[in-house]
Amino acid sequence: MKTEKTDVLVIGAGPAGSVAAGLLRKHGREVLMLEKEQFPRFSIGESLLPQSMEYIEAAGMLRDVVEAGFQFKNGAAFARGSTYTQFDFREKFSPGWGTTYQVERATFDHILSKAAERMGATLRFRHEVTAVDLDGDKPRVTVRSPEGETYGVEANFLLDASGFGRVLPRLLSLETPSNFPVRGAIFTHIEDRVAPGVFDRNKILVSVHPEHVDVWYWTIPFANGRTSLGVVARREFLEKYQGTDLERLRAIVNEAPALASVLKDAVWDTPARKLTGYAANVKSLWGRGFALLGNAGEFLDPVFSSGVTIAFKSASLAVAALERSRAGEAVDWERDYAQPLKEGVNTFRSFVESWYTGEFQRILFHPNQSPEVRRMISAILAGYAWDKANPFVAESHRRLKVLGELCAA
Ligand code: FAD
Repeated sequence: MKTEKTDVLVIGAGPAGSVAAGLLRKHGREVLMLEKEQFPRFSIGESLLPQSMEYIEAAGMLRDVVEAGFQFKNGAAFARGSTYTQFDFREKFSPGWGTTYQVERATFDHILSKAAERMGATLRFRHEVTAVDLDGDKPRVTVRSPEGETYGVEANFLLDASGFGRVLPRLLSLETPSNFPVRGAIFTHIEDRVAPGVFDRNKILVSVHPEHVDVWYWTIPFANGRTSLGVVARREFLEKYQGTDLERLRAIVNEAPALASVLKDAVWDTPARKLTGYAANVKSLWGRGFALLGNAGEFLDPVFSSGVTIAFKSASLAVAALERSRAGEAVDWERDYAQPLKEGVNTFRSFVESWYTGEFQRILFHPNQSPEVRRMISAILAGYAWDKANPFVAESHRRLKVLGELCAA
């Protein structure tokens, strides 16, 4: 089998892979990106958080994203029955970007991957990594080309950014179950036909099911009059509904009268998709010669739109560790990569857990809110989950519990 050599091999050209490739190119590293699909291709995860802009900027891709004309986003809104609350991310505790975009991922991912290529990375679509060998001095992978031929690649380092493909976790038996219950999502894109002023297109709207605190809907408007619409619930809940996925989604949306009324004129013109059991974890985020980025490592839950931000953060931390190692510094991947990444992931985890018990919803929808606490929460919702100056990062679990109890009283 023919074997190529490269410096850093990136598996997958989703957000984590492309930003990692861009950052590596800025350091002059040779990068080969292998992507199983032909882009543009559909992907879910369309609402970005402002924190993610910092990494897009650092990777040299800001202009590509800004000029794409995506829907501007400045916050998040939450609705339960007739109660509504919204956060403007520009009013937040942590410094940094306060605005971002709502993106069609087919376009967004294509733009980022092409930006990495423009910066000098070699990008190959329809090249699938099928096997890995870590026994030699350097990691090697086996790749299937679009013509069905196989070839090998030997690299100094592997970054697995294969997302839900979870290439190395599967091949190296690193997968461990998530401790969240199995939830699923049904989603589609609609032509929303929402009259101006009825809902704020600059914000994701998260609506809670009127009877089930752990069932929620997203509406993510795009710049072209279309909206991404989805519902998230436990698998057993979704299985109760009959018909096509689109019919099931419509039936569940009709159970939330406020949301159904906003979407009353919508044209449901696209078949729905379904994803179940997406929460995942691994025994380790790194090993000799490799690191796992983004969803190839851990995926929590979609409720706070944190996935792409975590994917970018992982790319940024991994590239920084690789560069220190190249400069001759001793790198401890657990201390320098896994632990710092997990600090923010664990902040989000506390918020996700608190959301599904209803505790965080009590806080969100409480009529008397301290402006300072709102600014701290706004910072987390904007993705600043690593800013330890924010008490809701430093002690997220305890803060949420105490505040949740106060709001219940
Ligand atoms: P991916 O985006 O999955 O990219 C991985 C790439 O690797 C893919 O292109 C894939 O084709 C490629 N690949 C896979 N296997 C191979 C292989 N063997 N060889 C070569 N290439 C391969 N996040 C947000 O930020 N905002 C949201 O609003 C949001 N909503 C979500 C809603 C739902 C229902 C779900 C399930 C997730 C949501 N997410 C959201 C999370 C988001 O989708 C992911 O966190 C994000 O896409 C992770 O990026 P990534 O680069 O790690 O992986």
